[in-house]
Amino acid sequence: MAFLSARVGRIIPSASSVATQRARELAAAGRDVLSLSQGEPDFATPDHVIEAAYRAMRDGQTRYTTIDGVPGLKAAVVEKFRRENRLSFKPENISVGAGGKQVLFNAVMATVDPGDEAVIPAPFWLAYRDMVQFAEGTPVYVQTRPENGFKITPAELEAALTPRTKWLLLNSPGNPAGGTYSAAELAALAAVLERHPQVWVLSDDIYEHVIFDGRQFATLLNVAPQFAERSLIVNGVSKSFAMTGWRFGFGAGPAALIRAMAKIQIQATANPSSVSQAAATAALTGTQDFVPQRRDEFQRRRDAIVPKLNAIAGLSCAKPEGAFYVYVSCAGWIGRRTPAGATLGSDADVAMYLLEDAGVATVHGAAYGTSPYLRLSIASSMEHLDEACRRIATAGERLA
Ligand code: PLP
Repeated sequence: MAFLSARVGRIIPSASSVATQRARELAAAGRDVLSLSQGEPDFATPDHVIEAAYRAMRDGQTRYTTIDGVPGLKAAVVEKFRRENRLSFKPENISVGAGGKQVLFNAVMATVDPGDEAVIPAPFWLAYRDMVQFAEGTPVYVQTRPENGFKITPAELEAALTPRTKWLLLNSPGNPAGGTYSAAELAALAAVLERHPQVWVLSDDIYEHVIFDGRQFATLLNVAPQFAERSLIVNGVSKSFAMTGWRFGFGAGPAALIRAMAKIQIQATANPSSVSQAAATAALTGTQDFVPQRRDEFQRRRDAIVPKLNAIAGLSCAKPEGAFYVYVSCAGWIGRRTPAGATLGSDADVAMYLLEDAGVATVHGAAYGTSPYLRLSIASSMEHLDEACRRIATAGERLA
């Protein structure tokens, strides 16, 4: 449609939303669909957070607030970074938005000009690509390898950097493949970046608390504090506190960048919901006891599902180190024929076959830049996951 901007044309609808939408349609038509496509915890928002939101509404916290966060909330975010990450920030270094997504969006819009490059290790959360393209920047994908835990190596990083590189986008633990950088791995990347002072690092730490096998979470500034002047950390409450719908996230970076991000936000949404800010303050300052319990539950599910998937001929996956997805290679199914006579030519075909034939919704790897894979979310009950594995195995047996 000629009326629409070229900008909107550059945005490809999120494949995970397309899959979720199709799964909903089938479910609405009466089909029994198991959805493993969602990127949100299946747990409830903690009670004390809901209580805090209710109290805030009763107390009249229902008005506009300062654009990027009320002072009490910024103080809670500063304290979170001190307590959990051993990082020292001031309130002027903190940005608060409607989800980690808005904080990322603000950062990209405030910094990327046409032709600027952002290095994005693949597989990646697809919003990175779209945001960079939205800003008329150029995403530079680096294919990571399963044998490296889907993490970019220093040599791969070095090869991707150019004088136009503005950002390296690091997401650890990572969506969709769960790659989680150790402090040593981050230090090795920092050593490369030292030689390229034009490059900033965006650390998307949103899955910080979903980290397995006793690994210690590390972010770049822990090992390379000298990057404080060219780094932005993005985090939030969606994944750790099961608060996806509240739309609340935060960032920490140099004050000049934070101010520029607020300029973008003021014309987009202005402040994030006052009620969500009260809820997030309660989440960040209240008990955190449930956080390791939920992490352990995700690990239990991961440990149960990975062997089952590996037992299915043609599929294989490694144990993710963090986040709540399993990234499964379906290379062994490509070229096979379905009972209806169609040939599975790509991971998108495999995902559609599983949805239509087995009633299991997954997201195909091409949506994350690495094929042929499927992303399965383990943010689902164990019974649900067991049944999904059974159905996938049967679908595999039906292939010629
Ligand atoms: N970063 C990654 C890697 C994600 O997977 C998501 C959500 O799926 C987000 C950021 C944004 O989370 P939210 O906007 O809900 O805080």
